Amino acid sequence: MTRAILPGAKLGVLGSGQLGRMFAMAARRMGYLVHTFSPDTDTPTGQVADIEVTASYDDLEAVRAFAQGVEVVTFEFENIPATTVDAVTEFAPVRPSGTALHTAQHRIREKTFLARSGFPVTPFRHIHTGAELRAGLAALGLPCVLKTAGFGYDGKGQRLIKSAIETDEAFASLAGREAILEAFVDFEREVSVVCARGADGATAHYGVIENQHERHILDCSIAPARVSPALAQQATEIAASILEQLDVVGVLCVEFFLTQDEKLFVNEIAPRPHNSGHFTIDACVTSQFEQQVRAVCGLPLGATEQLRPAAMANLLGDLWQQGAPDWLRACAAPNVKLHLYGKHEARPGRKMGHLTALADTTAEALRIVRAARAVLTSRA
Ligand code: AMP
Repeated sequence: MTRAILPGAKLGVLGSGQLGRMFAMAARRMGYLVHTFSPDTDTPTGQVADIEVTASYDDLEAVRAFAQGVEVVTFEFENIPATTVDAVTEFAPVRPSGTALHTAQHRIREKTFLARSGFPVTPFRHIHTGAELRAGLAALGLPCVLKTAGFGYDGKGQRLIKSAIETDEAFASLAGREAILEAFVDFEREVSVVCARGADGATAHYGVIENQHERHILDCSIAPARVSPALAQQATEIAASILEQLDVVGVLCVEFFLTQDEKLFVNEIAPRPHNSGHFTIDACVTSQFEQQVRAVCGLPLGATEQLRPAAMANLLGDLWQQGAPDWLRACAAPNVKLHLYGKHEARPGRKMGHLTALADTTAEALRIVRAARAVLTSRA
């Protein structure tokens, strides 16, 4: 049994974005101290952490010094080099373990793990050469989605191939990077399950969340998703089984495609809190971030019960095009909660914050949250 790390202890976070920020807020509320490590300064996490360390992930001496100053280290994004994680583990446990991170940060490893473990995934091929791409397209049939194997997020490094004449150009766009070719899933909806596993092996989940994307970036999530109880059970069982197979201690999100005929395909896994789980801060007994704190500290998991139907809308940098959005208007709706991440530069597509609305039904919550976002930039 892992010794519990109790309030008052120092927790380390690799990465310094909004996920680290919301983790740090949950941890500090519970009386922990938070140290964050990333190459940047004045970061979303650093602004609310006790200590912000600024160094490259490749600066292993700085990584070791960071690890020596905390009792446990977690991370808030996947693209952390394995050598960094290894250097941390010389001095402090990393939770979830490096294995979960290693699997999730590379699409071939991820899909291979999922397929070998018997989870439903779309057929795929590993691509290094133009010949492999042509053979893959012939085997899987058109259309297909070609994605770089590593360092991709929010649809970056991926393209849809609809016709064989696009093959050479698609291969050239990889610029030598290894890739995965996936059969296109004609999905009806995208859903996710945010779940957690404690050091004692107990698991918990927040049910199924329904996700709407715009330009490959999450736009809105609603919870609970409008799916049948049988489907919800299937999705949450898959998520729990992934947690166990990867021996995760922490929070993990499983993203699925759901087809018209109610078939689920696992698209991606992320061994950390997830954008689609942000509603849990305002709508659930225990947020996904508090759950991450509890899990990595070896505390019992908190209740995941959802108190009211909820909808979340992301606030992307595009909303700043005409200047700062009108926050007073967002706050005018009493059941809408504003979350801003402290980012100084509002670039198009950059996640700057989110709104969560609570209502009697998810449809109403979605209507309210969309309306609250729309008035942010209407100058009437
Ligand atoms: P990903 O980076 O893998 O999460 O993909 C980003 C988005 O691209 C997904 O949310 C889907 O909307 C779309 N997409 C990715 N892979 C596929 C696929 N195999 N079939 C259909 N759409 C896909």
